[in-house]
Formats: sequence, C-alpha cells, structure tokens
Amino acid sequence: MVGSVKQISREIAQMQQERQKAETADAHCHLDLISDPTILINAINFGVHTIITNGIDVATSKRALELSERKYIFPAIGIDPETAVKLDGKALDNEINQIMELARQNKDKIVAIGEIGLDYVKAKTDATKARQRMVFERMLDLAKELGLPVSVHSRESMDAVLEILEKRDMRKVHLHFFEGNVQQAKEAEKKGYMISIPPTESSKRKQVIKDVSIDRLMAESDCPVVGKTPVDVEFSIHMIADIKGIPFVKAAEMLTNNTKKFFEVERAKLGHIRG
Ligand SMILES: [Zn+2]
Repeated sequence: MVGSVKQISREIAQMQQERQKAETADAHCHLDLISDPTILINAINFGVHTIITNGIDVATSKRALELSERKYIFPAIGIDPETAVKLDGKALDNEINQIMELARQNKDKIVAIGEIGLDYVKAKTDATKARQRMVFERMLDLAKELGLPVSVHSRESMDAVLEILEKRDMRKVHLHFFEGNVQQAKEAEKKGYMISIPPTESSKRKQVIKDVSIDRLMAESDCPVVGKTPVDVEFSIHMIADIKGIPFVKAAEMLTNNTKKFFEVERAKLGHIRG
C-alpha cells in the first residue's frame, strides 16, 4: 500500500538526514570539466566534503588550483598519459617544466601529483609508450622531491605501472580506477598502496573489494568522465559496504578517513591559510 503524502515526505526527510550524516570523500575527479556550478554545490550539500580534483596538463592543473580556493576541494596536478601522447619534443618539455614549477610554487596547497601514469589504450606505438614512461618517471621524481603522494592511472598497463613504482621505491601511491586482478591488488596492498573504486561494477572489481582490506580502499567518482558528479562516490561506497557486509554509513566513514589521511588534506588546508 502506498503511504500518505505526509508519511512519504517524512521518509524522504529521514533518508536525507541519513545521507547528510554520512560524510563522503571523492578520491579522484576532474572538476575543471564540469561547467554547471550547481553540480558542485549539490555534491557539497550531499556531504562530499573531500574532493580531490586532478589536472592532466598545465591549463587544467592551474584550474584545479583555482577551484581549490573553495572549501572541500583539494588539487592534484600533473601530466597524464594522454597528454604525453598528444605532445612531444619542445612542447612536451615545456609542459613538464611548467608543471614542475607550478608544483614547487604550490607545494603546500596540492595534495598529490596526479593525474599521472600509463595508458596503453592511448599509446599504441613503442615511441608513444616510451614518452608516457618518461613523463610518468619525471612526475614520480617530482612527487618524491616534494614528498607528495601520487594519483596513478594504469589502463591496460598495470604490470608496467607496478614495476615502475617498485623501481622508484614509491611509497604513497593511489591507484585510481583500479582495473587490476586480485593478484595485482594483493601486491599493491602489500606495498601499502591505496586502491580506488570507481562507480562501475565488474565481477573482477567485486573480487578485489572482497579480498583487499578496507583500510587500503578509497571511493572515487572520476566525474565527469565516469560518474556525473562527486555524489556518485555513493555508488562505490554502497558496493564496498555490500561486499564487506557493513552499513553504508560505516563504510563511508572508513573510506573518508582513508582518503583524508592519505592525501593529508588538513596539511593542504593549512597551506591555503598560509598561502
Ligand atoms: Zn582521471
């Protein structure tokens, strides 16, 4: 039987209250690609109070820094593997040098070097693969120099990414949009890397969530590329909560703490006050 209007609105109010009680964190997104400001306002109203927005080149990294003037938004800056395919020669050198400069100038404000990594869907030739690797390694060196974590893309290149991270002895690693298998997830877990879960289901991903400690997990929207808004982390959190057999609110709390701790968002906030 359908309840009365009063009853239904009471239920909705209760649901909204539950939602507001759950503070969430979006470990990876691209706010520069979102032009409608109400999307961001709604996300914050829904409790997404830690939003890590990533640059992929100089222009978007500058935008990430601008956006982080707002409360709850924290910037990661870097050159992604797609940019490493698009540019080469002097233009690419220029981009790398500018990102390094920007990162050094803003090291108190940024929470990570990202988005960086390899993408073997985008790199089809040995030359473009080598260029991605060169850029990735320069970005890892930059992160080391500044003592910052990295937010890493690894589409169809997980083994190569893990090998490079190992060789460079990287410690603070966020594997964004984790697509690896259980064995790779276990290897990442052993090294203390963070594995991040986007709002899309797959049986491989579910198995990874099941087999890896929740202490090593984060939720991300990857919006607007995958999710539409940072609120879509709720889908990832629900998936994790279901598989781990814990309430949504509890999973939200744990994943939010993981994200805040990993990216040291409190430090970045202080950086803003100083800067
Ligand atoms: Zn991304």
